[in-house]
Amino acid sequence: MPPPVFRFAPSPNGYLHLGHALSVLLNADMARAAGGRLLLRIEDIDEARCKPEYEPAIYEDLAWLGVIWEQPVRRQSDHHAEYRAALAKLDAMELIYPAFESRTEIARIVAEREAASGESWPRDPDGGIRYPELSKPLPEAERRRLIDAGAPYALRLDMTAALARTGPLHWNESGETVTADPAPWGDIILARKDTPNSYHLSVVVDDAAQGVTDVVRGRDLFHSTAAHRVLQTLLGLPQPRYHHHRLILDGEGRKLSKSTSATGLRELRGGGATPAAIRTLAGLD
Ligand code: GLU
Repeated sequence: MPPPVFRFAPSPNGYLHLGHALSVLLNADMARAAGGRLLLRIEDIDEARCKPEYEPAIYEDLAWLGVIWEQPVRRQSDHHAEYRAALAKLDAMELIYPAFESRTEIARIVAEREAASGESWPRDPDGGIRYPELSKPLPEAERRRLIDAGAPYALRLDMTAALARTGPLHWNESGETVTADPAPWGDIILARKDTPNSYHLSVVVDDAAQGVTDVVRGRDLFHSTAAHRVLQTLLGLPQPRYHHHRLILDGEGRKLSKSTSATGLRELRGGGATPAAIRTLAGLD
């Protein structure tokens, strides 16, 4: 049996904090215990939020923590052709369509519907507005016309058609079988006009390309796994085992987002914390 493959996949949109430390140390501990490998992936698809200077900072913080990862590191921005190929496959299956509304327009239309009906429109598992499938009925000629006219668009997965193809889905969560419930996500975005990928698409393509067998990540991504199972099944990709770990919350009970002096690894290191103290602060050992 080849050794299990774990990965840590930070986005270079800020400095690492205690939540990242928990995640990477769990990955490293589990990989070591299983005689496995640990890979690193830089998830830099969000060009508006990611900055190149955060990438070396990630390496520096991880090395200081004592984490050892394999080379080469996979950087998502180097793999656009692979995401395009996955999209082409889904397109050939007639499972994706261009949607032309901006986020603001969708919010406005849904607010109008809510006001008219007195009922709230369904939210997706992250609390976002579930896409009301406005562009889905557009005839092919109209889609072409809008695209040729240079209109911005997002490529969305036709979730109903996708689930009709996949049938019921499950995943292995820490050894237990969990039933996937992707329908509440609705027609998720897989790419945008100028970006050939989205988190959901790139994560499944990358995990397969890197031969990842064990995905260890925060509980905030638990429901995303249902969407990932849909894409893995449609694209014929292997399914990893999953372990969604607890999150470290701030004083107000929110998940850590940006590093602050209280939780940033650089700040803690600057204040004299040792890697062992970080383990303790992250609730390990
Ligand atoms: N890049 C994601 C993050 O930083 C993690 C994605 C994953 O582990 O699947 O939250």
